[in-house]
Amino acid sequence: MATGCPAVARLPLVGQATRSVSNLPEKKLAPEHDYRFEPKSVEQHIESSANQLFATEIARGLGLTLRYFFKKPATVYYPFEKGPLSPRFRGEHALRRYPSGEERCIACKLCEAVCPAQAITIETEPREDGSRRTTRYDIDMTKCIFCGFCQEACPVDAIVEGPNFEYSTETHQELLYNKEKLLSNGDKWEVEIQKNIEAEFLYR
Ligand code: SF4
Ligand code: SF4
Repeated sequence: MATGCPAVARLPLVGQATRSVSNLPEKKLAPEHDYRFEPKSVEQHIESSANQLFATEIARGLGLTLRYFFKKPATVYYPFEKGPLSPRFRGEHALRRYPSGEERCIACKLCEAVCPAQAITIETEPREDGSRRTTRYDIDMTKCIFCGFCQEACPVDAIVEGPNFEYSTETHQELLYNKEKLLSNGDKWEVEIQKNIEAEFLYR
């Protein structure tokens, strides 16, 4: 049985055995053809000769480089430069205070209840003046999925996700935030957080 492919012709037994088992019709092979040596038209010859003679690819490449040389770079030189952040950006958590210094949190535990990752742990105790305040407010930042539900649930804007995204650590323990850490985040980022809340108040 003749085939166009010498590799198949050298393996007649394998080919016959396969066909007899599968009962498939003989496959027609494409004729041997080396497309690298296809004849070129006169225009193609002229174009490729001109390209080689005048090195037009180099000129075109340099032109492209020059064009982008004077354009504003698309890259941001982080950490020296940072891109703009949305007021809705959900970054590192913070517990806020009133201007008097009093904690905003009234220990209602809504944030703890709504947290889908169960990352928040709160313990409470009434103060001498009868107000309820937290004695423990922990967030396991490694469990948090940054959904923002806690800040949406909070009736007094106490727990918020601030604009800080640079808080990577070397150990797991450093990402187990306690109340002191969260309050100090609030003190540190209060100006930016307040600005973001004001920018978003229409949509809340
Ligand atoms: S952002 Fe979502 S997952 Fe993270 S602590 Fe708040 S409610 Fe829980
Ligand atoms: S942070 Fe807000 S929601 Fe959470 S316990 Fe305090 S007041 Fe309630």
